[in-house]
Amino acid sequence: QGPVVIVGAGHAGGSAAVALRQAGFAGPIALIGDEPHLPYQRPPLSKAWLKGEAADNALALKGDDWYAAHHIDLHLGVSASAVDPAARTVTLSDGVVLPYGALILATGARARPLPGVTEPLAGVLTLRSRADADALRQRLGPGKRLVIIGAGYVGLEVAASALAAGGAVTVLEREPRVLARVASPEMSDFFSRLHAARGVDLRTGVTVAGLESRDGAVTGVRLASGETLACNAVLVGIGAIPNVELAVAAGLACDDGVIVDGDARTSDPHIFAIGDVTRRPLALYERMTRLESVPSALEQAKQAANAITGRPAPASETPWFWSDQYEVKLQIAGLPFDADQRVTRGEPDSGHFAVFHLGAGRLLAVEAANAPQEFMAAKMMIHQRKSVDPALLADTAFTMKDVMA
Ligand code: FAD
Repeated sequence: QGPVVIVGAGHAGGSAAVALRQAGFAGPIALIGDEPHLPYQRPPLSKAWLKGEAADNALALKGDDWYAAHHIDLHLGVSASAVDPAARTVTLSDGVVLPYGALILATGARARPLPGVTEPLAGVLTLRSRADADALRQRLGPGKRLVIIGAGYVGLEVAASALAAGGAVTVLEREPRVLARVASPEMSDFFSRLHAARGVDLRTGVTVAGLESRDGAVTGVRLASGETLACNAVLVGIGAIPNVELAVAAGLACDDGVIVDGDARTSDPHIFAIGDVTRRPLALYERMTRLESVPSALEQAKQAANAITGRPAPASETPWFWSDQYEVKLQIAGLPFDADQRVTRGEPDSGHFAVFHLGAGRLLAVEAANAPQEFMAAKMMIHQRKSVDPALLADTAFTMKDVMA
């Protein structure tokens, strides 16, 4: 087996190095990352880390000693600038050229910038990296006013964290409801009311017309209505763009993400891609999709490691995701493609409830707010492609065990 080169030392890339050693790969592994850090977890960046509640070493996937003990050749603070699929080499920004037997692209995604803003303005931030989170954290606190553009998971989690830091928070959303692309109307309604009750000035269906600034620093956000919201900082949380540039330049098939198969293999048999940068098949739903989640990155890291070491593909998993806002833990499993029915179990006002998505009588997805049993049971049923009785699901007199029986 030739060397394995992993480009991108994020959650997916770091996990691929671990999975390769776990699968018994004994050859050389090089891990290239353009950030100065060892692979770390991003989920806390909008949650505990932003609130200053996570210890300095809490983000790292593995300590430095793990990489040394497992002979991982680290190239940190260096980016891969070109891939030559014919010669099977990767060229790094420091001029080093690394040959590979297998290449794993794990370049992740970057935050989508606010359209129309061409000049960098102090105080206009996005949140993707530890450096971004540290810059944002410095702008939170009593007397500070943060405007968040975009009410997706990152925007809403930052709103909760910023409020905990003592500042004032406004969230602006273009769609008529929060989490419009990723959650049911029932869940959107629950989170809207939660944020409003905690003191977030939440505005949906609004259009941002521009930013106000003084001496190169943002001072406010101008709305299409003519109103201007004064602030010290703006967080732009309007989604992510996959970092496909290396893959495109190498001639790999891409379509809003690097196209991979169930082994995480790209259109070049020696090149794999994993994590947020991929458009991947979902066996359960017979679809290709881009999943920006840790469980998906981990699953694909295992797929690539198994394929490279000649092991059978790991069993396919049900996609899942989580979000923490205030004391609410939202857990989501499955995807509501082709859903034709929604069932709510429990009372949203109690703070514990779940929304199920069904299609042709089968359970396709669940959104569970502080409802871990509903989440676990539904995740299993989704995987088993189970048909369920919606009346049983809705009736809390029946336990989830009864529903599954
Ligand atoms: P990344 O972790 O982004 O890593 C990619 C790395 O590659 C980066 O370090 C990048 O700089 C580097 N890179 C890119 N190009 C090159 C190059 N040419 N050369 C060298 N290095 C390069 N998921 C959940 O499941 N639950 C959550 O609660 C959750 N919360 C999140 C909160 C925030 C604020 C963010 C930003 C993400 C969150 N996610 C969450 C998503 C999750 O973090 C991602 O799905 C995961 O990080 C994907 O891992 P990745 O390795 O594909 O990408």
